[in-house]
Amino acid sequence: MTLYLVGTPIGNLEDITFRAVRILKEVDIIACEDTRVTGRLTHHYEINTPMKSYHEHNKDKMTEQLVEMLKTGADIALVSDAGLPLISDPGYELVIAVREAGVRVETVPGPNAALTALMTSGLSSYSFLFTGFLPRKDSEKFNKLEVLMKEPHSIILYESPYRVKDTLLTIEKVDSERRVALGRELTKKFEQVVTAPVSELLEQLEHDIPLKGEFVIVIDGQYEEAAEEKWWHQLSLNEHVEHYI
Ligand code: SAM
Repeated sequence: MTLYLVGTPIGNLEDITFRAVRILKEVDIIACEDTRVTGRLTHHYEINTPMKSYHEHNKDKMTEQLVEMLKTGADIALVSDAGLPLISDPGYELVIAVREAGVRVETVPGPNAALTALMTSGLSSYSFLFTGFLPRKDSEKFNKLEVLMKEPHSIILYESPYRVKDTLLTIEKVDSERRVALGRELTKKFEQVVTAPVSELLEQLEHDIPLKGEFVIVIDGQYEEAAEEKWWHQLSLNEHVEHYI
């Protein structure tokens, strides 16, 4: 009678918790986006639980079915192809319906591409804004970036390899000096996290940073007005703080 939201690896099969493996073995059903993708994980960890697909195109019908199963006593784990369900992945509507039905929801935390990129990037992790995928239409993308890039927070975006160059060019149009981190193939064999002003990053694209694989973009915040505050915040967290004061 519990819906478990289970984090799974974003590329490296070892990045899964003991609890996640136990829960995936114990539940009655694993609801997943693509049974072939999740099948690789379950095969690796000898998990024999039956799977049902739950994705963008069948989620309305499946939400009803899964809620009914939970109400009659089943335990269900929801996973996505990679990382955390609900984070730019299906699951939000299911959580609402399950909570409304008075059934327990628990999260089994795990890896996430946005936070992995932010942590590695060297850009500020004190305050950040995650906004998933940008609109595809050029004018909408530009307008959204123009608004987001005024924020004094690191901005984290997901992007496909086919649009990453175009998105970096749009960021350059808004502010060519802005530092940006490009995280590619995180936790995988060819992982790269390159942080540089966006114009330099664009020069490295294609030969030094191949446009293949999965990408996260992190944009430095606009700190002018809050610069002093940021400086003090970082200084106070510096272990050699006495030396500077
Ligand atoms: N739910 C996932 C999470 O928690 O990170 C994100 C799913 S979203 C549909 C897929 C996007 O996440 C990809 O297009 C890419 O932008 C990003 N992503 C996922 N895995 C990644 C990886 N190993 N390296 C870089 N980006 C990744």
